[in-house]
Amino acid sequence: MTTKDKTSTLRTKKQYIDGLSKMRRNVYYDGNLIDRTDELQMPTINTIGFTFDAAQDPKFQDLVLAKSHLTGKTINRYTHIHQSKEDLHKKQDMTRVLCQQVGGCIQRCMGIDGANACNAISYEADKQNKGSTEYYKNFLKWLERFQEGDLVGCCAQTDVKGDRMKRPHEQKDPDAYLRIIERKSDGIVVQGCKVHNSEASVADDIIVVPTRALTPEEKDWAVSFAIPADWEGIKQVVTVHNFRERKHFKRGFMPGATDSYTIFDKCFIPWERVFLAGETAHGGVGALLFALFHRHSYSGCKPAIGDVTIGTVSLAAEYNGIAKAGHVREKLAELIMVTELGYAAGFTASELGKPEVYMPGIGFVPYGPGSYVPNSIYCNVGRCLTGENVYREAEILCDISGGISATFPHEGDFLNADTGNLLKKYTMRNPDIKIDNAIKFWMYVGDIICSATGGVNQVGGYHGGGSPVMEQIAITTQYNIQEKKDIVKRIAGIKD
Ligand SMILES: Cc1cc2nc3c(=O)[nH]c(=O)nc-3n(C[C@H](O)[C@H](O)[C@H](O)COP(=O)(O)OP(=O)(O)OC[C@H]3O[C@@H](n4cnc5c(N)ncnc54)[C@H](O)[C@@H]3O)c2cc1C
Repeated sequence: MTTKDKTSTLRTKKQYIDGLSKMRRNVYYDGNLIDRTDELQMPTINTIGFTFDAAQDPKFQDLVLAKSHLTGKTINRYTHIHQSKEDLHKKQDMTRVLCQQVGGCIQRCMGIDGANACNAISYEADKQNKGSTEYYKNFLKWLERFQEGDLVGCCAQTDVKGDRMKRPHEQKDPDAYLRIIERKSDGIVVQGCKVHNSEASVADDIIVVPTRALTPEEKDWAVSFAIPADWEGIKQVVTVHNFRERKHFKRGFMPGATDSYTIFDKCFIPWERVFLAGETAHGGVGALLFALFHRHSYSGCKPAIGDVTIGTVSLAAEYNGIAKAGHVREKLAELIMVTELGYAAGFTASELGKPEVYMPGIGFVPYGPGSYVPNSIYCNVGRCLTGENVYREAEILCDISGGISATFPHEGDFLNADTGNLLKKYTMRNPDIKIDNAIKFWMYVGDIICSATGGVNQVGGYHGGGSPVMEQIAITTQYNIQEKKDIVKRIAGIKD
């Protein structure tokens, strides 16, 4: 597959930006409405923009291009529904490789993960309703537009959740979880607020799925749909995570990220965009499935962030002249182990992928129209391991770098005639390293562990895709612990 393929649907980065510039203004930043292509958002747009550039670059095409199972056309893998184990492997590898290029989150995986979840639940809900609903048809119609337009999707799953110990229908404010407030002949009206929606402010479409398992009385909260991100009735309040600008000692790539509170205020969704509206069992599976696909994405992005951390720690040791010290080797080994075990878990999850999901109390059962789902145990153990290690990785970088990342002078002081040469003289540690490279490097380390954006990235690495406790619940409820107890009883000679 190449972009020369006449049936290719690929957009260029410029076309993506042009599309954003035409959207209705509904994004608020610090009290003001902003354009989607505001300067503030450009580092984020450039980061996602790399997924369009990569689709045009023969170096990445084997991973980034896929063939649509709907139209047979060449599409960007970020709009693809996994048809095989190979698709799962390629998605994991694409994620790792592209994240390496931008030095962190590539930010387009929420769309593919949300789409894959909706594909399966809309199909199964129709099956349960024996032809009285058309959710799957709606989904496929939307998917074709998503693929043909090479659109960027984000996934709005996390609700504000109010009192954490109460279920959606027990909350004082029932809007604490997004819900249907009215059912009409031509669609539904929804209300609520989804939070921490990564890249919603630069996405073409928002895919909505429930946050959690639902009880039979929670039909109004079992809702899933997809709409353009500037749809009437939606307001976004965005936080933007950019690194400090540099004029002289520039970075090789300047990434960015955004997260939105996405507020649905009596928002009308026509039936043709609805993938679920009341089927509580499938709402719960939808919550589980988005999280599962997203944890599989983490088996690509977290190893890439591990790659960056390993490189940074190794360079910090070299620039400090301590590369041969015993504790450096020990810590590098620790970083490599976590990084590659996270990758190995994702690889195994892809290899064991099946069109099946785990149903509480039943076990793994066939689910969806035959599209592939990565193995849940391996997705969860991998994400939990790498997620919990985010702060340990920062600790190792802090240790090997020393205090310089926290107190390094601003760029202007290196350019000032009074202080510049003096600061260069006193920055010099390893004489084999050119001083300008050392300055860029220590500024980079500061970006990673001492900036506001570095802090956001760590919280995202820990909680994104579900906090470690969520993975621990998934692992312990789905793992066959009884089988292990039986092994021990047999060996120990215990007969019940
Ligand atoms: C940078 C970033 C990007 C993200 N991107 C997205 C995105 O694109 N789309 C999206 O939908 N979500 C996104 N998320 C949300 C992410 O999935 C959630 O942060 C995560 O699931 C945790 O939910 P929470 O933030 O509400 O924390 P909480 O669930 O409130 O967790 C706080 C603490 O409360 C505990 N707790 C919660 N409920 C209970 C309970 N019932 N019993 C006992 N203890 C409980 C938790 O274990 C935890 O210790 C993102 C998050 C971050 C930080």
